[in-house]
Amino acid sequence: MKPLKYCQFCGKKLSLKTLLDGSVEKYCSECDYVFFDEPSPAVIVAVVNNNKILLTRSIGWQHPYWGLVAGHIQRGETAEEAAAREVNEETGLPTYRLTILGTYTVKERDLLMIGFKAETNANKVRRSRELESAEWFTLNKHLPLRPNSVAHKIVVKILSGR
Ligand SMILES: [Zn+2]
Repeated sequence: MKPLKYCQFCGKKLSLKTLLDGSVEKYCSECDYVFFDEPSPAVIVAVVNNNKILLTRSIGWQHPYWGLVAGHIQRGETAEEAAAREVNEETGLPTYRLTILGTYTVKERDLLMIGFKAETNANKVRRSRELESAEWFTLNKHLPLRPNSVAHKIVVKILSGR
């Protein structure tokens, strides 16, 4: 989500206002209106086939880590529909069971992420053009994921539930 700079009603540049609860929010003095930054909802999905997990790398990543399938929830879509759609778009894999593992926030990006485990019995990946790689790894706690990332937390949760 783009941070709001101008009033959506009158176009005046927003200032900051300290509210009664101490929080600081964007404010239009012309309209006397406070704009709250709303988190953008997204899904992040661990695609699992028995003891294997699918990790991906997007084109252009400079860091050495892998990630999980993820994407924004579209208007009118449930989180479950978004999870199945993103898996299918990015990897071509069908999923037969979706389990919500938890929700996570990424504050610096205004994201609310809903974490899923999606089970599949297919192996063959048809990766989207956004991905540089998509490969199956054996599920274990030493996967090449960024420490303390949402993806890492999700894998720890899956492993602790076994
Ligand atoms: Zn205004």
